[in-house]
Amino acid sequence: MNLSYWEIKTWLTNVDFTVVGSGIVGLSCALELRRKYPQAKIIILEKGMLPQGASTKNAGFACFGSLSEIIDDLQNHSEEEVIDLVAKRVNGLQLLRKTVGDRQLDYKPFGGYELFLKNDESLFLKCKSQKDTINKLLKPLFYEEVFSFKPNEFGFNHAVEQLSFNQFEGQIDTGKMMDALLKKAQSSGIKILNNCLVNEISENNDSAVIKTNNFEIKSNKVLIATNGFASQLINQKVAPARAQVLITKPIKNLHIKGTFHLDKGYYYFRNIEDRILFGGGRNLDFKGEETTEFGQTELIQEKLEDLLRTTIIPNIDFEIDHRWSGIMGVGNQKKSIVKQISNNVFCGVRLGGMGVAIGSLVGKELADLL
Ligand SMILES: Cc1cc2nc3c(=O)[nH]c(=O)nc-3n(C[C@H](O)[C@H](O)[C@H](O)COP(=O)(O)OP(=O)(O)OC[C@H]3O[C@@H](n4cnc5c(N)ncnc54)[C@H](O)[C@@H]3O)c2cc1C
Repeated sequence: MNLSYWEIKTWLTNVDFTVVGSGIVGLSCALELRRKYPQAKIIILEKGMLPQGASTKNAGFACFGSLSEIIDDLQNHSEEEVIDLVAKRVNGLQLLRKTVGDRQLDYKPFGGYELFLKNDESLFLKCKSQKDTINKLLKPLFYEEVFSFKPNEFGFNHAVEQLSFNQFEGQIDTGKMMDALLKKAQSSGIKILNNCLVNEISENNDSAVIKTNNFEIKSNKVLIATNGFASQLINQKVAPARAQVLITKPIKNLHIKGTFHLDKGYYYFRNIEDRILFGGGRNLDFKGEETTEFGQTELIQEKLEDLLRTTIIPNIDFEIDHRWSGIMGVGNQKKSIVKQISNNVFCGVRLGGMGVAIGSLVGKELADLL
């Protein structure tokens, strides 16, 4: 692209910090850099017209792990590691709520539920028998009982008679969250350049050189926040994981309110006003969903519709209004990768399915590497 003198001078010269990716992590990182370095020239390069990964696509659960998920984590991690994971999510959510504000997030403290299918009653019994142990483990973080059991008053079909309930879980409006973070960044003088795909980053003595589809620039430091797309630019253990979602048209007198986890978290649904947003099913085709391509598959969308019809709202007519997907970054560990990669290049990636919770904190930690 043939850029003008003005464009080069105003946007692309003397750049102190370049953040790649304008998701929750990239924006939180840029905001923290601005707080630390009020005079710095900070730009964000984003390949999409809007953020094009997971941050504008997610389900908006402000959660830190369902009962079965925490029990499952204890099989593969020490107690200390599990407490640390939960603490990071809780602290991250607090930071997000402080940065954006509950009103702007449209934060709703409806609580979160886990429902157990009758054909997986053993999971229910396991959760019931370990509830007290988990509550005790989490006491130093919450000072109160996190999990209890409630009757299945929502009329879920094929489900056991009780749901586990987490009084500290909430829901947010994902679009409002991202709109607020983007506005905050722009109003603090951070320049966001959209439709800019970073193709290559190389070291150049005391700076880094960034090649994009439009131009090549030098930047003193580069901070990579591309999550599911990270392995296209850097050699880190992050795999893409597509997650598919659908939303119903408004349903009259919808009785479901809150955030819900099903089948060890492989499925999740919530109300958003009087609609149901429903996602998951990656476990039906892990290999096929290990992709950076957006899209829906018949296999997963049919399963989502089937579960809605047979289990979640069995006696209600509904229509699907819209379907979409997002790309997460996952790995064999739940811990995110926040580290220096070379002299002037740093990364904060691999947020898994918890980026609403930990994204603000990972962004801050990334900025704090400098
Ligand atoms: C369907 C779905 C539901 C989810 N539900 C929840 C939930 O309820 N609660 C929760 O806590 N988490 C949830 N998550 C996870 C959460 O959304 C993510 O963990 C989080 O958004 C990750 O933020 P990020 O900034 O690291 O990555 P992203 O939001 O993916 O941002 C990375 C950005 O980098 C850009 N980019 C990538 N490569 C390049 C490049 N080469 N050049 C320029 N730009 C580039 C992308 O376009 C993207 O905008 C969900 C995810 C999905 C997909």
